[in-house]
Amino acid sequence: MTAKIRTRIAPSPTGFLHLGTARTALYSWAYARHFGGKFVLRIEDTDVARSTQDSVDQILASMRWLGLEYDEGPIYQMQRLDRYKEVLDQLIAQGKAYYCYSTPEELDAVREAKKARGEKALYDGCWRPAPGKTLPPIPDGVQPVIRFCNPPDGDVTWDDLVKGPITISNHEIDDLIIARTDGIPTYNFAVVVDDWDMQISHVFRGDEHINNTPWQINIFNALGAPLPQFGHCPVILGDDGQKLSKRRGAVSVTAYEEGGYLPEAMLNYLARLGWSHGDEELFSPAQLVDWFDGTHLNKSPAQWDPVKLLWVNSQYIKQADNSRLAALVAQQLGKLGIALENAVVGSHLPQVCALFKDRSDTTVALAAWAAKFYAEVTPDATELTQHVTPAIRPALTHLADKLTGCEWSRVAIAAAIKEVLATTGMKMPQLAMPVRVLVMGTAQTPSLDAVLELCDREKVLARLSRV
Ligand code: GLU
Repeated sequence: MTAKIRTRIAPSPTGFLHLGTARTALYSWAYARHFGGKFVLRIEDTDVARSTQDSVDQILASMRWLGLEYDEGPIYQMQRLDRYKEVLDQLIAQGKAYYCYSTPEELDAVREAKKARGEKALYDGCWRPAPGKTLPPIPDGVQPVIRFCNPPDGDVTWDDLVKGPITISNHEIDDLIIARTDGIPTYNFAVVVDDWDMQISHVFRGDEHINNTPWQINIFNALGAPLPQFGHCPVILGDDGQKLSKRRGAVSVTAYEEGGYLPEAMLNYLARLGWSHGDEELFSPAQLVDWFDGTHLNKSPAQWDPVKLLWVNSQYIKQADNSRLAALVAQQLGKLGIALENAVVGSHLPQVCALFKDRSDTTVALAAWAAKFYAEVTPDATELTQHVTPAIRPALTHLADKLTGCEWSRVAIAAAIKEVLATTGMKMPQLAMPVRVLVMGTAQTPSLDAVLELCDREKVLARLSRV
């Protein structure tokens, strides 16, 4: 069975890669990898008015960033129009699809009349051929759409990988438009031809598509094509219990990349949001692939939890290689207008990252720490008044003297601090707090000697002497 597993993700390039799509992409990818199958990327660009190359580029970049490598694609639907036409012609020839010349006004009228009678506002089948039925005369100047002859009776049932058995009656759905007047196929038709041609065995997608699935199953059946297995993942909710949307914060993968999240943390968090493997909260992409067999997917909606995501990210930042963090932090610093020399990024910045990564939950937060070493620092006004009192000034001058002459190493700096404490009789926090505020702008820093060692001596002396 394993060789035949083929999954796909089929985003529409009408915006960034949405977190919900990223999650189903991730499940599709992990499922294919788990079973040694193939993962296909298809770009569903038939909504010509809304599809853009920029969105395609963003989607590809986000897939790359997340490490979701696809084996085939990107396959563009707009490059497959000939194939759709071929299948449309075949369905028409077989009497399984037909041209419909109803105008939008006529369709509105039918809908209104049905509603007035308390019926479901479905298409009335005016142009659907039937034995013995005379169709209306073809009107002049009306471009027809093509409709699919949906089975009039019976149920469509499938065993959803996520939701379990689902049944929808054919009475609930009508003869779907499968090609628009310009000949471009609609989503429900193109998706079936593609999933068939691409031999897709498993479709993971958002549950907003559940209502489309009966149409798709009927079209698969009309084509004599084998059905894939469907898994509809519940929506992701924002913290207000509503569907996660732009209005409620960042919904694109790109926003999180820019916000200083690591891709493996996103992958971990997204995977866990809607799926579980025992109590595991932190796992690598390799572990996910190892564990992900399509079971233990949640039936109910998951809630986006920014605090948990930050925690997951902070765990990955703690473990991340310092040189890798330095490269990411250098990019973030660049956005703040702080350009660094390669030598600094290669040697000094990794040390800064090593010292501050334990207290940074994003690379943006880490960059804010790093900025203190490469740009001016403005001490927090309250902390300044609180810690840098006139009484402390002589001790600060004393420390500055010691630091002027000592070797610039953590050990020597620690010794200098101790000497000042011994001479003045002060306790460590009394001296360390004001030094931190003056040098780093805040009293909350890692060990003072470690911080000072990484800060340029001249900078430390200049900051200590500020008033
Ligand atoms: N283009 C559809 C979407 O972005 C794909 C749905 C599917 O996976 O079938 O929602």
